[in-house]
Amino acid sequence: MIIVLKPDQESVATELQHHFGDHHDVFVHDNRIAIAGISEDELLGSEKAAVAELINDEPKAVQGSRQFHPEDTIIHTKHSTIGGDNFTLMAGPCSVESQAHVLKMARVAKENGATVLRGGAFKPRTSPYSFQGLGEDGLKYLRHAADEYGLDVLTEVMDDEHVGMVAKYTDIFQIGARNMQNFSLLKTVGETDIPVMLKRGMSATVDDVLNAAEYIAAGGNHNIMITERGIRTFDNKYTRNTMDAGTVPVLQKLTHYPVIIDPSHAAGHTEFVTPLALAGTTAGASGLVVEIHDDPAHAFSDGAQALKPDEFKDLAEKAIAVHDLLFGMDEEETETEPQTRH
Ligand code: PEP
Ligand code: MN
Repeated sequence: MIIVLKPDQESVATELQHHFGDHHDVFVHDNRIAIAGISEDELLGSEKAAVAELINDEPKAVQGSRQFHPEDTIIHTKHSTIGGDNFTLMAGPCSVESQAHVLKMARVAKENGATVLRGGAFKPRTSPYSFQGLGEDGLKYLRHAADEYGLDVLTEVMDDEHVGMVAKYTDIFQIGARNMQNFSLLKTVGETDIPVMLKRGMSATVDDVLNAAEYIAAGGNHNIMITERGIRTFDNKYTRNTMDAGTVPVLQKLTHYPVIIDPSHAAGHTEFVTPLALAGTTAGASGLVVEIHDDPAHAFSDGAQALKPDEFKDLAEKAIAVHDLLFGMDEEETETEPQTRH
C-alpha cells in the first residue's frame, strides 16, 4: 500500500515507520509512504486522520514506480543531465580498442553533441574465442579520452568482483542485456552511488526490467536509467533485434527513471540505426546510446552496426532537431528542475 499524507503531516511518516518497520519494508518519499503487505484496517486512528489518499494496487517494484515517486528522476553527472525532457547523446565504440582509437572516437562524440563516451573494456561475447576486451587498460584509455574532451564515461561491468575496479574509472555503470537479472551484480552496483544504465534483457518483460531496477534501488542507489536495446522476437532476419519503441511511453508511465534508446544493438546493421534512433527519440526517450567507429570493417566487435563519423553527425543533428521540435524546453525552464509527466 502507498499512503499519501496530507500536507504538513510528515511526522506521521516517522510514526508509520515505527509502527510497521519491524515487520514490513517501509519506504518514504516526500509525503508518500510505501508499506508492503498491509491493509487499511491496520492503520491507527491518528494515522488514518493524516491520510490524503491510499493506493492499494502498487507494484512490487515500488520504489521505481510513479505511484510512489511521481516526478521524473533527473540524474546529474559531471557533464550530463539525464532524464525528463533533457536529451542526452552517448556515443563511442562498442569496444575500447586502443588509446589512440578511443581518443579519436571521443572527439567525434564530442563534436556532435554527445556528453557521454561509451566503450566496453569487459565484453560479454557470445563466443569465448571472440575479443573479450582490454580490461583495466581499456578503462584507463577510456577515462583518459573522456577527460581530454570533457565527457562522462559509460562502460559495462560484468561481474560483481569488478565493480570496485570499474568504479575507479567510470561515471555510469552499464549493466548489459545478458546481465539484467544477475542479481548479485545488481545488488553490488546498488550499494554504490554511481549512476547505473540498466539494459533490458533480450527476453525480459517490462515488469522484469522494472524488478531488476528495483534490486539496484533496494541497495540505496536511485540513479538508474533503463535502456531499450531491442528484444528477441520471431524475426531477426533483417534486424539483429526488434526495437520495442512502445516500451518508451510504457516505461515512462510506470517509472520515473530516464528511458534511453540503444538503436545500435536493436538494428544490428548501420543502415537501420538512424531510423530506429529517430523512432526512439520521437517516442520520447531521454537519450540515445550509439556505437561509432571510423573503420567499421576492422572493428574489434559490432562493426556491422557502427556508424562512421559522418553518419553519426547526421543522426545527432536529426535526433536533436526531432527532440527539440517535440519536447524542446523554453529557456526559462531549467534543465535541473524535476518535472512530472502527465
Ligand atoms: C554493448 O553495449 O556493447 C552491449 C554488449 O550491449 P547489450 O548488453 O545491449 O548487448
Ligand atoms: Mn556492442
